[in-house]
Amino acid sequence: MNAAQDPSGPRVGHWIGAGVREDGERFAPVFNPATGEVLRQVPLADARLVDAAVQAATAAQPAWAETPPVRRARVLNRFLALLNTRRDALAQRITEEHGKVLSDARGEVMRGIEVVEFACGIAQLLKGEYTEQAATGIDTWTLRQPLGVVAGITPFNFPCMVPCWMFPLALAAGNAFVLKPSERDPSVALRMAEWLAEAGLPAGLLNVVQGDGQAAQALIEHPAVQAVSFVGSTPVARQVYQRGAALGKRIQALGGAKNHLVVLPDADLELAVEGLIGAAFGSAGERCMAISVAVLVGASADAVLARLAERTRALRVGAGTDEGIDMGPVITRGALERIRGAIDAGVREGAQLVVDGRIVRVPGHERGFFIGGTLFDRVEPHMSLYREEIFGPVLCCVRAADLEEAIALINAHPFANGVACYTRSGAAAREFAHRIQVGMVGINVPIPVPMAWHGFGGWKSSLFGDTHVYGPEGVRFYTRQKSVMQRWPRASGGAEFDLPSSS
Ligand code: NAD
Repeated sequence: MNAAQDPSGPRVGHWIGAGVREDGERFAPVFNPATGEVLRQVPLADARLVDAAVQAATAAQPAWAETPPVRRARVLNRFLALLNTRRDALAQRITEEHGKVLSDARGEVMRGIEVVEFACGIAQLLKGEYTEQAATGIDTWTLRQPLGVVAGITPFNFPCMVPCWMFPLALAAGNAFVLKPSERDPSVALRMAEWLAEAGLPAGLLNVVQGDGQAAQALIEHPAVQAVSFVGSTPVARQVYQRGAALGKRIQALGGAKNHLVVLPDADLELAVEGLIGAAFGSAGERCMAISVAVLVGASADAVLARLAERTRALRVGAGTDEGIDMGPVITRGALERIRGAIDAGVREGAQLVVDGRIVRVPGHERGFFIGGTLFDRVEPHMSLYREEIFGPVLCCVRAADLEEAIALINAHPFANGVACYTRSGAAAREFAHRIQVGMVGINVPIPVPMAWHGFGGWKSSLFGDTHVYGPEGVRFYTRQKSVMQRWPRASGGAEFDLPSSS
C-alpha cells in the first residue's frame, strides 16, 4: 500500500440510515488537485454495505410514501434554507476536492438549489388527471405513485449539482434514495445528507454509499432498487443502461459529449469569441456542456481564430481559491496525462496546434494537476481530437463553408448533448434550432443548461433512456402512473359480456 492509500488518515464516510459509517476493506485517496496532496481517504463500499443502505431505504420508504406530498415538501423547504445559508461552505469544499474556481463552484451550488426549489412544488407536480362521466355513471382518473427505492450514480465534475438533479425530486415524489457519488470528490454528498437529516428527513430515506464501479454495480444489481439515474461517461452509461434494462429496471443514463458552437459570419464576433472562451475553458473544460468544437463558418473564420488564440494565451490558470483565476486544475494526475496524450495525438494526426497548454506551469503549485488552455485549428472529422471526448481545456476549430455544412457536420457526430449557434439572423437561428439533432440548443447562449422546471438531457450517445433529468420528465421518471375507474351503481345491471366502452 502506498502513502496515497493509507487508511489511517482522515476519512469521508458513508451515510447509512441515520449516521456516518467509515468502514471499508478498500480505500481511495481524495486529492486537492491544486496542490496534488492527499486530503482524505474515502472508503469504497462493497456489496454488503450497499445492501445495508438499500435495506435502510426499504424500511423507511413505505411511511414516507404515505406522508402527504405537502409535508414531504416542507422537509425539502427546510433543507433549501440550510443550503442557502451554507452554500459558501459547500462551494469551498467543491473547490478543495474538484479544483474549479470558487465563483464557478458557487454557481454550481446555485444550479443545485434551483432543483430543490422545483422539488418543493411537488404537491402541484403530482396532481393527476380526471375525467368525469367517462362512460355513463363512471369516472376515471390517473395518478402517480412513487417507485420505492431508487438509486443515483454521479460523476466527479458536479459533486453538488448532479446529485441535486436526482435526490430532491425522487424524495419529494415519495421514494427512498441511495446515492453513489464520485469517489474523486465525495465530501459534498455526505454534507448534503447530514443537512437533510438536520432538516427533518426521516432516517433511511437518503443514503450515501461511497465507492467506485464495484459499489455502483452492486446498486444496479440489487433486486430492491427499482430505478437508476446515472450520469457519467458514455461507455459506462451504455453499460449501466444495458445491465439495468436486462434486469427490467427503469434507467436514465446520461453520457459524455462533444459540444459544438457554430459562429456564422453575421454573428457579433466579439460576443462569439467570449462565449467560446468561457464555455471551452471554464471549469478546465470538465463540463458535459463545455464547448470543445468551434465551427467557424465562411469568411470570418480567420478573424475569429486570431482573437481566440489571443484570448486563450491570456487565460489565468491557478488554484481555484485564488482571486482573478479563470481556470483551475483538472481532477487527477491521470486526467492530466490523458489530456496531454489527446493533444499529442492531435499533433500526430496533423491538426494545427495554435496554443499549447502542455507548457503551462503554475508557480507555487508545481505538484498540482494543471494544464493550460489549448487551441487547435484545421481539425478534421476523422481525427481522434474531433471524434472523442477529451474532457479538458482543449478547443478544436473546424472550418465550414456555410450553415448547411455546419448542421450536417454536427448531425453526423455520435454525441449530441449541447450545441450553440451565434448569429444575428433570426431565420438562420430558427433553421439551426429546428434541424439540429442535439438535446439542448443555445442561440447566442454558449452553455444552454435548461432551468430546473424544464429538464436536462442529450440525444444519441449522450443519453440512454427515455426521459431527461429533473423538470416534469424527472417527476415522471421517479413515479409510475396508475389509472383508476370508478362506478357506484344503485343496483346491479347483471353481467356484461361486451368490452366496456363509452357508447
Ligand atoms: P465516469 O463514467 O468515470 O464515472 C461516473 C460514475 O460512474 C462515478 O460515480 C463512478 O464511480 C461510476 N462508475 C465507474 N465505473 C463504473 C461501472 N463500471 N459501472 C457503474 N458505475 C461506474 O465519469 P466521470 O469521469 O466521473 O465524469 C466525467 C464524465 O461524465 C464525462 O464523460 C462527462 O461528459 C460526463 N458527464 C455527463 C453529464 C451529462 O449530463 N450528460 C453531466 C456531467 C458529466
